[in-house]
Amino acid sequence: MSSTAVTGIGELVTCDGTGSDKLGIQSNAALVVEDGMIAWIGSAADTPAADARIDVAGRVIIPGFVDSHSHLIFAGDRATEFAARMTGQPYDGGGIGVTVAATRAATDEELTRLLAARVRELRALGTTTIEIKSGYGLTLADELRTLQIASQFTTETTFLGGHVVPAEYVADRSGYVDLVAGPMLHAAAPYARWIDVFCEPHSPHAFDADEARHILKAGAAAGLGVRVHGNQLGPGPGVQLAVELGAASVDHCTYLDDADVDALAAAEEDTVATLLPGVEFCTRSPYPDAARLLAAGASIALATDCNPGTCYSSSMPWVISLAVRELGLTPAQALLAATAGSAKSLRRGDIGRLVPGSRADFAMLDAPSYLHLAYRPGVPIARTLDELPESHLT
Ligand SMILES: [Zn+2]
Repeated sequence: MSSTAVTGIGELVTCDGTGSDKLGIQSNAALVVEDGMIAWIGSAADTPAADARIDVAGRVIIPGFVDSHSHLIFAGDRATEFAARMTGQPYDGGGIGVTVAATRAATDEELTRLLAARVRELRALGTTTIEIKSGYGLTLADELRTLQIASQFTTETTFLGGHVVPAEYVADRSGYVDLVAGPMLHAAAPYARWIDVFCEPHSPHAFDADEARHILKAGAAAGLGVRVHGNQLGPGPGVQLAVELGAASVDHCTYLDDADVDALAAAEEDTVATLLPGVEFCTRSPYPDAARLLAAGASIALATDCNPGTCYSSSMPWVISLAVRELGLTPAQALLAATAGSAKSLRRGDIGRLVPGSRADFAMLDAPSYLHLAYRPGVPIARTLDELPESHLT
């Protein structure tokens, strides 16, 4: 067993739920890592002996960001679509087909190389856990191979055969729903922890409540946890369906009525509202009202939704700055949502906070205070501590 002491921590933000801001901040702190787990936290003056020592010279240590919603495995890009949207074309989910064609045409080696590069990019920005969805294959073979590749990078893989109806099934929607809920699901399930559906009646390409329920129930019966894309493009059934099915997360939540907010508040132990403000930024859409959700008692998380269409950014610090600027969150609430909140949306108690017994997944800020995450938008002050022998992506 090897141990590493991390000393000289000017501000240790544990996100352990204590203190008025729930950040559990300690000054002049140290921690000891043993075999990838946190073995000890306390005052720097009391640091026990360890095999190795890293002095972070007064910097901030926070839990590594948990990016609980990404579409990271794909080929090609849609920069032209982005430029068109910025000059006035609305988004309706149709551009996904462009990425599906490019992903189907890519080799396994190409997809692996592209995904590895994106994972390096997000680690460099302080993210230590990433959820990765399929959904750009939309054939049994392509959903299977994208999940197989993604599962080499994370345990948090999600089967999203129910992303959109592919072009070859437009005249046979029920045939595609049966494929997703049947043979495709059973091929994908060994490589997926979760199942997700784009439940969005406002998009002609996505799925209505009955179609989504059918797919998600089949996934749950196959042993997968449930997640839902809901209420992104307009008011809709996604939130109520997620709560009905005991989903761990319902993501976007941009358009909520009072009944949706009440349902999320009542389900705060089980179903997290995951907000993805990078999407609203990149599609120039109205932002969700995070403060309203928190005031009602709902659980919230923040994630990037990194994808080639509506938000091609893997930066959790940027998402935090957007959440503070545009969603009405305090810097403390935003940091909690991007760590402990998103860990809860993955039903993980071992990440998203720094306490003895949790994984030693943390990030360092080149700053004197965590406030700089929101205060210095776009500046790369966060990074993982890759020199730690135990550091890894979970
Ligand atoms: Zn998404």
